[in-house]
Amino acid sequence: MENKPVIKVIGAGLAGCEAAYQAARLGVQVELYEMKPHKYSPAHHSADFAELVCSNSLRSNDTSNAVGLLKEELLRLGSLIMEAAYATAVPAGSALAVNRAEFSRYITEKIEQTENITVIKGEVTEIPDDGVTVIATGPLTSEALAEKIANLTGGTELHFFDAAAPIIDFSTVNTEVAFFASRYGKGDPTDYLNCPMTHEEYDAFYRALVTADVAELKDFDRESQKEPTVFEGCMPVEVMAKRGYDTLRFGPMKPVGLPLPTTGEEAFATVQLRRENKEGTMYNIVGFQTHLTFGEQKRVFRMIPGLENAEFFRYGVMHRNTYVNSPGFLAPTYATIACPSLFFAGQMTGVEGYVESTSSGFVAGVNAALLALNRESMIFPKETEIGALAHYVSEGGVSSSFQPMNANFGIIAPFDKKIKGGKKARNEAYATRSLDILEKTFSCFLKNENTD
Ligand SMILES: Cc1cc2nc3c(=O)[nH]c(=O)nc-3n(C[C@H](O)[C@H](O)[C@H](O)COP(=O)(O)OP(=O)(O)OC[C@H]3O[C@@H](n4cnc5c(N)ncnc54)[C@H](O)[C@@H]3O)c2cc1C
Repeated sequence: MENKPVIKVIGAGLAGCEAAYQAARLGVQVELYEMKPHKYSPAHHSADFAELVCSNSLRSNDTSNAVGLLKEELLRLGSLIMEAAYATAVPAGSALAVNRAEFSRYITEKIEQTENITVIKGEVTEIPDDGVTVIATGPLTSEALAEKIANLTGGTELHFFDAAAPIIDFSTVNTEVAFFASRYGKGDPTDYLNCPMTHEEYDAFYRALVTADVAELKDFDRESQKEPTVFEGCMPVEVMAKRGYDTLRFGPMKPVGLPLPTTGEEAFATVQLRRENKEGTMYNIVGFQTHLTFGEQKRVFRMIPGLENAEFFRYGVMHRNTYVNSPGFLAPTYATIACPSLFFAGQMTGVEGYVESTSSGFVAGVNAALLALNRESMIFPKETEIGALAHYVSEGGVSSSFQPMNANFGIIAPFDKKIKGGKKARNEAYATRSLDILEKTFSCFLKNENTD
């Protein structure tokens, strides 16, 4: 009998299990390495694979929501994680929530029963230098391996902490209030949107900000923030505000050089939003990295004039997160550009969230197997959410610092013309377009390749 090519997958989390399973389906032999139960990260506690370390929700099930569409794409493509999620779902309204113990057990059993997969227990401390490898060790990758990845990426290209400001859907900004302008008229005015505040508006906003609820800090997050070599020193906006009533007006909310188009005067304070992508569909709130809970971010940041009805593509976060600076380092297959037989998958590629990590595991696993089989790679187009994430990771946005991203419609290829019927109609059109492409181009291809 002909020997099957072998690939290695390191980490049996969401991305690693999906990658291993898809590669096995395509007919390669997979060695799946997992450090549990010998060693646990500070957030992992179960010996089973694909552990959900926090919430048991995989978020919206509605395909007019980007994460809902991503789940539907993965389900149609034959994702193991999606199969397990629907098999172990618990009632949660329009969201997909699971019984976490049953979910992990389902995946563990399926992996253990898959003929082409051999599970090897133990911590991996070196990056294998032969054959095809997928590294999927997650946001809490063990120290020894993280050090090797940092060396591989040139030392500064591996981040250990994610301090990100919220990203807003441009189409939901009230541009009757917010205006385009760069400070002192320097540069392209569409790079910045400005939300001016009167004294009274600032006062109300300030009081809401300093009294808003913050998310609970895990011990290992607290440690990461203390460590000066790994944390770049971004201060949460609410902490900066607590230093004094005017601190923000001399910091991220300074109004100088931004006269109002109506009067030519400067406002009492101005919040700036910076363009996040070439298409101008996403803007981040400059200097607003935050620890507020997601609910409080929505309540408090919607008090900013012009953002009354703002929709958040991504909320601000500050947490421990090991991720590589992927643009220029990874291709849209999640293979490293310098060494195409080495792939990364999951949260460490700069995608954010359970479903997003699964999606990157899917693409990396398929492409690692295709490479081992000497076959052409499979690149998902930007018109699909699975492809949009892969392209975002490999290309980044327009900002100089790469920030992890969750599934959203700001990264998907926009339509050439405006879709009538508002945001819901536009999102539904994105979903229809994506699922059509998958059905026509990819789903059949994968089904034909199945070996199970
Ligand atoms: C504390 C925390 C809470 C989170 N909460 C949520 C949430 O509620 N919702 C959400 O959508 N996302 C959440 N995330 C983000 C992210 O979606 C999850 O971390 C997700 O599990 C990432 O999937 P992954 O496959 O990349 O990594 P993981 O699921 O973490 O899998 C990585 C696996 O690799 C193993 N491993 C690590 N190092 C080694 C090594 N050297 N050798 C062998 N094995 C190794 C680990 O034991 C683990 O099993 C959270 C992240 C963190 C850190």
